[in-house]
Amino acid sequence: MLFFGHIGISAFFGLFLYLSPLIVGISSILPDFVDKGLLLAGLSPYTRLVAHNLFFGPALSAIVYLATKRKAVAIAVLFGTYMHLIEDIRTPLPWLWPLVTYDLVPVTGIKIVVDLFEIFTETIGLSLLVSLFVFKKNLIDAREKIIVVVKDFYDKRLVKKI
Ligand SMILES: [Zn+2]
Repeated sequence: MLFFGHIGISAFFGLFLYLSPLIVGISSILPDFVDKGLLLAGLSPYTRLVAHNLFFGPALSAIVYLATKRKAVAIAVLFGTYMHLIEDIRTPLPWLWPLVTYDLVPVTGIKIVVDLFEIFTETIGLSLLVSLFVFKKNLIDAREKIIVVVKDFYDKRLVKKI
């Protein structure tokens, strides 16, 4: 995924999990900003390393919590960074770096590959992002209705078991 795919899809799921779509959206693009920023600054030869592992999200989330003292913000940051990893799953990721060394291919610059997958996910992400702005109230209403249906389903199952 490139840009809108990460932000739109992550923010959309964030809204349905009662997290701030804005914070989730921003957090979901941070791994690329960090790692590609390090590459452009000449500090790393890889496009995915420092911020594309399982430890970056919790570390950033802890820093955010210490700075803001707000759990909801820290959880939204963690969710956004982990959504990024899930969305990048099509390519090899250094999941456990720095505990494990990976045989990554060094690169000299950022090369953006635009294939059908990227076009599709960017379109979906942009559509979801626009819908978050235009139909936010409707999406929140839909979320509440879904929760009622799911709760009702489980309540009936519990009654049947008893
Ligand atoms: Zn990435």
